[in-house]
Amino acid sequence: MGDFTGKHGLIVGVANKRSISWAIAQAVARRGARLALTYQGRFEEHVNDLSQGLEQPPLVLPCDVSSDAEIASVFEKVDQEFGGLDFVVHGAAFAPREELEAPFVNTTRDGFRIAMDISAYSLIALTRAAMPLFEKRGGGSVVTLSYLGSQRVFPNYNVMGVAKAALEAAVRYLAADVGPKGVRVNAVSAGPIKTLAAAGIKGFSNILHVYSDRAPLRRNVETGEVAEACAFLLSDAGRAVTGEVLLVDAGYHVTGM
Ligand code: NAD
Repeated sequence: MGDFTGKHGLIVGVANKRSISWAIAQAVARRGARLALTYQGRFEEHVNDLSQGLEQPPLVLPCDVSSDAEIASVFEKVDQEFGGLDFVVHGAAFAPREELEAPFVNTTRDGFRIAMDISAYSLIALTRAAMPLFEKRGGGSVVTLSYLGSQRVFPNYNVMGVAKAALEAAVRYLAADVGPKGVRVNAVSAGPIKTLAAAGIKGFSNILHVYSDRAPLRRNVETGEVAEACAFLLSDAGRAVTGEVLLVDAGYHVTGM
């Protein structure tokens, strides 16, 4: 499924070997893609270590997605090295821990702003910065990662649920805006997986149990399975799909109780 030979991609959101973005990096690199990986400050060493395991040595660059200057610098370096870009993976999300512990009604103005900026606005900023590089390749594909907490209430997901709703709406608006330039924008909404980001959600293990008890496939999903779905959307196999939120959650989203 999908040959990435000769394709170049930027992957934002690798923190460690459990990151969904790392599984995506491996899935597309295995199929021939050359990658740029970005890291958020404290994860530099992890990302450098992981990058040794890819077939083609990736560009490894710092990027805090709340900084327009860092985003601009990443795309400048990617353009210099790759002379354009074929795809972008957006796997960054953050909300202050307090916002995921306090009752939702107590969400602070600042916590709301931070969650929205890092988890939703950054998709718009990255897509915009990628456009001139996509143009050099005659089009491109962007994939972001969402969660069902955008549509339904999960304990302690709180402001992240609101940010994911905004992210999914941004996918649709971006898709409509950049589609005429041959650029596709989609989301994969993954079932719960034990990663660093998930560790910030109180009671996350309960959510895992509820999914494996009630999902039609009676199990949870693995990062590699989410990565395969992302690779489909990033590849030519997904060339007619845009503005979509693809649920990869062992079917949990169809259950009524
Ligand atoms: P993760 O902790 O491995 O990845 C989250 C990434 O966000 C980290 O690499 C972190 O560095 C990055 N990030 C946070 N703030 C940033 C900033 N200011 N600038 C740049 N990067 C920043 O966890 P993950 O579960 O792999 O999360 C990846 C994506 O998948 C997130 O959007 C998450 O919401 C989504 N997701 C996760 C699950 C799950 O259960 N793990 C389910 C559905 C969706």
